[in-house]
Amino acid sequence: MQAPTDKYGRRFEKLRVSLTNACNFNCIYCVGHDHLSGKLNRPANELSLTKGKKLNATEYKACISAIHEVSPLKQVRFTGGEPMLNPHLMQLIQHCKELGIADVGLTTNAWYLAPKLNDLLAANIDSLNISLDGIDDDVINKMAGISKAHQVKETIIMACETGLPVKINAVIMKGKNEDQILPLLEFCRKHNIKLRYIEFMEMGDYHTTKHKYTVSQDEILNTIAQRYNFKKQDRTTNSTANYWTLDQGGTFGIIANHSAPFCKDCNRLRLDSTGKLYGCLSANEGLDMLQNMHSKELLYNTLKTTLSQKQEVAFTGSSISMKFIGG
Ligand code: SAM
Ligand code: SF4
Repeated sequence: MQAPTDKYGRRFEKLRVSLTNACNFNCIYCVGHDHLSGKLNRPANELSLTKGKKLNATEYKACISAIHEVSPLKQVRFTGGEPMLNPHLMQLIQHCKELGIADVGLTTNAWYLAPKLNDLLAANIDSLNISLDGIDDDVINKMAGISKAHQVKETIIMACETGLPVKINAVIMKGKNEDQILPLLEFCRKHNIKLRYIEFMEMGDYHTTKHKYTVSQDEILNTIAQRYNFKKQDRTTNSTANYWTLDQGGTFGIIANHSAPFCKDCNRLRLDSTGKLYGCLSANEGLDMLQNMHSKELLYNTLKTTLSQKQEVAFTGSSISMKFIGG
């Protein structure tokens, strides 16, 4: 059986697996207006905050194996919520490697990362994406709703020292952290880290904010141009980011969901922590995986329907925030 494709020839080759919709951080762009108004005061590390059914390790493994059989995967990336809150992370990474999936990565806020670096290496993780929305401690603390920004930066440096490929994801929001665009670039050049700025996506409570907080790709480039000269690289097929090479050394990327959308060759599928499949971040509803995974034909048809959630051109916003769908 051939993998399901849509009318544009798109197929699922990269799977994002959300290991929980709980998180110990309260990032301003992810948890929404409660945070902005200062109303949210959640205890850290509260797995009980998880909403809905929680897939167990056996179910996660069965879901990943079944998807890989019907639509062979080149990449699995564990995310959330904060995926390091899930105690089964290491065995799930190992499971993906045993299935022969070439690229198995983790997207994390790095809070629990330092003591787990050796376990991740032993599990054969291929790469780490770490969220960091500034360099000044007070900006990081405000953006992430935490109080120990320095711990995150120290952990990022430790992660780089393991030799694992590390990328930093930085969401830039109008009026919040635009002044961190250049400091982030300096930090990443110094530590040889691949930096990707992310255009803010209107999700969850921000679904209707009409670009009030968006800092566009051009605005990010204009800021970088104040200090650097750079050239655009050719875009790699299926890449979410555009990349530039700095004349002064180093590179940076921008994930420009609004200004330079990449839907036309998007090959990503998302599985949330309750067992729902999403073919697109713009989708407001997921399809049930657990009920449809036991027959190849049923799963094929489910993936085909999930593919039809993909946008033709650009992300259109979603009422579900990233922490629930899996970023
Ligand atoms: N907790 C982990 C972390 O923060 O890296 C993984 C989950 S988080 C939802 C995954 C990614 O989504 C992060 O890089 C975060 O910056 C990004 N993200 C969350 N909400 C976003 C939004 N509204 N717009 C753009 N990126 C967003
Ligand atoms: Fe948590 Fe990641 Fe969302 Fe921040 S972006 S609140 S760390 S899930």
